[in-house]
Amino acid sequence: MIRTYHYGDTEQLSPHFRALEFQCKCAQRHDFKLDDELVPLLEKLFTVLACSKIVVSSGYRCVAHDKSKSVGGSGTGQHTIGKAADICCYDKNGNPISSKLVCCAAQDIGFNGVARINDTYTHVDTRDGKWFGDETKGSSYSIPSGDFYEYFGIGKEEKPMFKGIDVSFYQSQIDWKTLDVDFAIIKCGQRDFTDPKFEQHYAAAHDAGIPIGAYWYLDKTSLTEDAALKEADEFVKRLEGKQFEYPVFLDLEESKQFDLGKAAVSAMIRAFLRRVESAGYWVGLYMSKSHLETYVEDDIKSRYCVWLAQWDVSQPTYTGAYGLWQYKIGKAAGVKGDCDLDYCYVDYPTKIKSKGLNGYGKPFEKPPEPAADDGTPVEIVIDGQKYTGKLNKV
Ligand SMILES: [Zn+2]
Ligand SMILES: [Zn+2]
Repeated sequence: MIRTYHYGDTEQLSPHFRALEFQCKCAQRHDFKLDDELVPLLEKLFTVLACSKIVVSSGYRCVAHDKSKSVGGSGTGQHTIGKAADICCYDKNGNPISSKLVCCAAQDIGFNGVARINDTYTHVDTRDGKWFGDETKGSSYSIPSGDFYEYFGIGKEEKPMFKGIDVSFYQSQIDWKTLDVDFAIIKCGQRDFTDPKFEQHYAAAHDAGIPIGAYWYLDKTSLTEDAALKEADEFVKRLEGKQFEYPVFLDLEESKQFDLGKAAVSAMIRAFLRRVESAGYWVGLYMSKSHLETYVEDDIKSRYCVWLAQWDVSQPTYTGAYGLWQYKIGKAAGVKGDCDLDYCYVDYPTKIKSKGLNGYGKPFEKPPEPAADDGTPVEIVIDGQKYTGKLNKV
């Protein structure tokens, strides 16, 4: 049912929306209309996308405002009957969520009209009938096949599952208890030194119950397989005795190393990852899209977990498989300053623990105390025969 509200009506319609958010943005301060099906759907969107807020940039529009130059509408659209809203959805860290993802979610929830307006703004409405559009291609452009997942090339199963950050000593002030993430990857070290914040980050993340992984930055002076192996040993030394629910990564990004060419770079990566893996770790490789494509041989990319770095795109254009995606530098609640933001698509904690890797199994259980040289003298009788000897504790 479409209701009429007075201008400035502050009525709280749902936990996150008030009536006046939908009033006409023209100068006339007139009554406005609102379909009572619209707000419950917006609330659903709020939940599904785990929003911190949804901003309604345009709700009801009177005919004059709709036809005005600034809006450029026909004067007959869904906004003029109170059935539409143009929105921007923000994630828990206050960053706008890509309109592509909002369109997919709005489609799932059951909005009849949905359209991408630009990268971060989305039009949704409760029209009779159905219209899925892309206004970046024209104000009435309908997407072929009527499926946003297909249109934007987003796999339903590829949608972000876990949100995380990665940090090093640069992020010296982290309030791990207020952090709203599913995981964190912390820098362990480089060449032969430990990241100054590694121990502190590790302990604080564990205390806060946040699953973590670690990464090792291959120093620019390491230009051979032997040098890579030496750094792998340094990495393992610092991981020992700790537990990691996420993979442990090699981070290789120095131009001096890439200058060596694909074969040499791949040989260094292979040597490093094999060495760390043989010590009982689920290993992975952190690298940018272009470096992965140019300098890494296919056997590595299919064998090990890839942590893809490709910033400021709504979905990666990297065509290979990857387990984690570092998608931009930005803000995370609880971190002072900027940090890297990541998504993960694999339930690593379950896999790693079930395989007993990363400190969760046999490899790092303390070996039993060696038996005392001098056992306890015993005398036993079996089938009437007496035996004596010494019994050692195991
Ligand atoms: Zn108006
Ligand atoms: Zn609209």
